[in-house]
Amino acid sequence: MTAGRDGAPRGWCAGEQTAANVYNWLRGDCAGEACGAGSGVKDVQREEQRSRVDILGCLVDRVTMHEALTRIEGFLAQGAPRQVITLNAEIIVAAQTQPALREVINRADLVTPDGAGVVWAARQLGKGVPERVTGIDLTQALAHRAAQRGWSLFLLGARPGVAEKAARKLQSRYPGLRVKGVRHGYFQASEEAEVVAAVAAADPDIVLVALGAPRQEFWIHRHLQELRAPVCIGVGGSLDVIAGEVPRAPAFMIRHNLEWLYRLWREPSRWKRQKALPVFVVRVLGAKGRGRGGLG
Ligand code: UDP
Repeated sequence: MTAGRDGAPRGWCAGEQTAANVYNWLRGDCAGEACGAGSGVKDVQREEQRSRVDILGCLVDRVTMHEALTRIEGFLAQGAPRQVITLNAEIIVAAQTQPALREVINRADLVTPDGAGVVWAARQLGKGVPERVTGIDLTQALAHRAAQRGWSLFLLGARPGVAEKAARKLQSRYPGLRVKGVRHGYFQASEEAEVVAAVAAADPDIVLVALGAPRQEFWIHRHLQELRAPVCIGVGGSLDVIAGEVPRAPAFMIRHNLEWLYRLWREPSRWKRQKALPVFVVRVLGAKGRGRGGLG
C-alpha cells in the first residue's frame, strides 16, 4: 500500500484510526465520508486525545513504541505531511534558549521520548512516559513495518556512502523494503532546494532525516510541505549505526541508561554536547520544586 498525498489509499478511512476503523478497512467496509474521514472535527478530537507531558516547555507524547508506530501508520493513511521528532535531553536544553526550536518541537505531530533523561524527567514532572522510543529503534521498527505494508523510504543524511550502506542493511534485514532514494547530508545551503526537489521527486512515504539535532528538526519543519512525504522523521546518528559505521552501546548499558556514557567514551568530543545533561537534571529538579511541568 502506498499512502497518497492527495487521497488515502482506496478503501482506507482517513478518519480516526480506531481498531474498528482498521478492522472495517481490512474488510473493505469503510465508506470514507460515512465515518468522518478527514473532517476537521476528527482532527480536533485526535489532537485532544494526545496525551503529552511538559518537560521544561517541550511537549512529549506519552507513547510506547507500538503506539508511535500506530500513530505513524495513521499519518501515512491520511497523507498530509507530518513531522516526527525523537526528543532527547540535549535538544530540550537547547530549546531553553531557542524559542524557535521549542516552537518546532511543540508543533510537531509526534514527539517521542528518545533519551533516558527524557523518561526520567517525565517521571519527575508528570505521569511519566511508558518507555523510551529512540530514533534508532523507531527507524528499525518502521523499516520492518514498511517492508510488510509496502511503504517506501528515503534516507537523507550522514557522510557520503553511509545512507546507501544503511539502505542495503535494512533491505537485507527486511526483505521487500522499498528505498526510493538516498542522499548524504553534507550539502551546502545553496544545494538545499535541489535536495528537497530530489526527495519530493522520489515520492517516498517516509523520509528519514539524519542531519543531527536540532538541525534536522529545523530542516524538516522548513521543508515539510515541499518534501510532500506523509512522514518525515529526524533520526540523528541512526544511519551510522544501521550502516555499521558506529557501534551501538552494549545491551546492558542501554538497559541501565548508560548509552550516553558509551557514546562519550567512543567519541570524547561529545562532552561539549553532553554537558547539557547536568544542566537538564538541575533544571528538571528546579521545575519539579516549583511545581512546573506536568501534562500538556
Ligand atoms: N550530519 C550530516 N550533515 C552535517 C552534519 C552531520 O549529515 O552537516 C550527520 C552525521 O554524519 C551523523 C548525523 O548527522 O550521521 C548526526 O549524528 P549524531 O550522532 O551527532 O546525532 P544525534 O543523534 O546526537 O543528533
